[in-house]
Amino acid sequence: MKNLSKPLAEPVDKLLAYKQRTGLQSALAKRMSVGIYGKLGEERKDAFGPYFNPCWFSEISTQVRLEVAEYLYQHGIGPRDSEHLIHISVDGFLLDMPISLVTESKDIECNCELCKAERKQRERA
Ligand SMILES: [Zn+2]
Repeated sequence: MKNLSKPLAEPVDKLLAYKQRTGLQSALAKRMSVGIYGKLGEERKDAFGPYFNPCWFSEISTQVRLEVAEYLYQHGIGPRDSEHLIHISVDGFLLDMPISLVTESKDIECNCELCKAERKQRERA
């Protein structure tokens, strides 16, 4: 992984820095960073988009899918456990309950940011 070429690293890092800000800058940075990926897979009616690059497009989507899979496995959610899993997309998933409740039902102690935030929110309610 050390020697991977990352031609989009610099522009994406700059956009992600803006994403940390609030309001319009953050919203625009988020849309633009997703847009870069989308342009790499753009198919038009009669041609491909000017930035079409199926190699980069598939490399990015595969890496993101693998990260989603790893996250689900860390939370005890796998292909044979469809009890709470409703949908998996390229960059996310949908459960029928908060993920922190899924891990608690499986006696998995998770301290990822999402689980921590959900627990904090439940404590406040
Ligand atoms: Zn977690």
